[in-house]
Amino acid sequence: MLTMIPQLIIGTTDLAAAFLFMYGLKRMSSPVTAPSGIFVAGLGMLTAVLASFLYIFGVSTAAQPHLVVNVGLALTALVVGGGAAWWSGKKAAMTSMPQMVALYNGMGGGAAGAIAAVELFGNKTHGVTQMVVALMGALIGAVSLSGSLIAWAKLDGVIKHPLRVKGQQVFNGAVMLATLAIGGYIVFAAQGGAEPVIAMPILIGVFFGCALVFGVLMTLPIGGADMPVVISIYNAFTGLAVGLEGFVLQNPALMIAGMVVGAAGLLLTLLMAKAMNRSVSNVLFTNFGPATKHKQSAIKGSLKPTEAGDAGIFMRYAKTVIIIPGYGLAVAQGQQKLYEFVKLLQAAGVAVRFAVHPVAGRMPGQMDVLLAEAGVPYDLIFQLDDINDDFATTDVALVIGANDVVNPAARTDKSSPIFGMPILNADKAKHVYVVKRGEGKGYAGIVNALFYEDNCNMVYGDAQVVLVKMIEAVRGLGSSNAG
Ligand code: NAP
Repeated sequence: MLTMIPQLIIGTTDLAAAFLFMYGLKRMSSPVTAPSGIFVAGLGMLTAVLASFLYIFGVSTAAQPHLVVNVGLALTALVVGGGAAWWSGKKAAMTSMPQMVALYNGMGGGAAGAIAAVELFGNKTHGVTQMVVALMGALIGAVSLSGSLIAWAKLDGVIKHPLRVKGQQVFNGAVMLATLAIGGYIVFAAQGGAEPVIAMPILIGVFFGCALVFGVLMTLPIGGADMPVVISIYNAFTGLAVGLEGFVLQNPALMIAGMVVGAAGLLLTLLMAKAMNRSVSNVLFTNFGPATKHKQSAIKGSLKPTEAGDAGIFMRYAKTVIIIPGYGLAVAQGQQKLYEFVKLLQAAGVAVRFAVHPVAGRMPGQMDVLLAEAGVPYDLIFQLDDINDDFATTDVALVIGANDVVNPAARTDKSSPIFGMPILNADKAKHVYVVKRGEGKGYAGIVNALFYEDNCNMVYGDAQVVLVKMIEAVRGLGSSNAG
């Protein structure tokens, strides 16, 4: 039977999808163009799905005895998957975005693994190269699936502590070696090198099982505070697995999408590791985070609580204020009130800027998104390197719901688990106000020496409630007497 769709149309649609992915990614590199970048990349994904359907209809119908059933299944999967993503995307709170990213990552890895499973169990791979590539995609995809699920469980608090036992790394290495050996044996046997000792489907099943177990074992010992880097690594893995399976299926859209995601994930991993001043291998194989047992250096000074209204009025009469938002601001959903407060200060002649740490919050870029959501102009938002030197000449640093990212121990205390992580120099400002609910620790589980410094006052309360009080206090002054 004749093919129904000419190859030229399929190829052009693939090319359009690839262009949209790359153009979308390029636009995502700036917060100003990022929303449209996400839209363009989404359009690319839609075009890639269209190309896949065109491909199905482009193959001779004689070669596809189950065409109607397969198309029906694909459409059902699209409706169910698309519906679930739409519903969960709308429902998810800003604070649970990292968990969502982890889950979606896992789904991508799982999808790549599923393609490999269809090819391998169905005995559809031809030649050594195609089989090796399918197995590599299966391994990376399966590790990404199970690892991302553990990352999700850690971020969601389902798994509360890293699981570390003696000899774990040796055991993990042995599991990985066994998986590779089974993969090698599958290729060898399939190419007629040996009669398989057990049935091939069982061998392939064991290979998948080992890969899934390795993903779990590799992620369990890693501390929660390292999860953003881990998620980025799995993002890169997922992209790579999808790209490899695209090669197996000879589907250009999959190959390009996979490689783009893989490269973006890898770059993000390296940037995140750099932001924490750690190597990727250090993240994966060295203990860090809340479970780390370390002796914290003694902290001098005392906590000095003050009223929200007094802090608000002090800032109203300052010349320069730098605001450092952190995870607590997202929890309190205080971003709108924060910008309302900032506009009041600006109206009184105060120069206000925002300083965003690369790992503030619980996922890369979370604070930028939060501030953008409140309508804060991008030219008020500065990244660490661009603003850190300015704290020394700033009247007030307002730390709101942030903790680890302003902890001076990262600079001075070698025993601290965050030692070496670049921090925002809030402590160097002439005066510091810290808004938080109580004496809760930050994500790394350590006491913050900044809170005890002479130039620092604590404003206790939920960030949104505190901001409402600050706004009321500044409004109560009227609009006269700028700075
Ligand atoms: P943080 O160190 O987790 O501190 C957040 C602070 O917010 C807490 O000390 C908490 O103190 C306060 N808080 C919580 N709810 C609040 C509310 N409703 N109102 C006011 N304050 C509230 O946050 P961070 O400074 O943003 O640092 C991020 C940390 O998370 C780093 O250690 C980073 O490595 C890690 N991390 C980052 C990512 C990422 O990709 N960005 C992902 C995972 C982990 P109280 O309980 O006393 O209120």
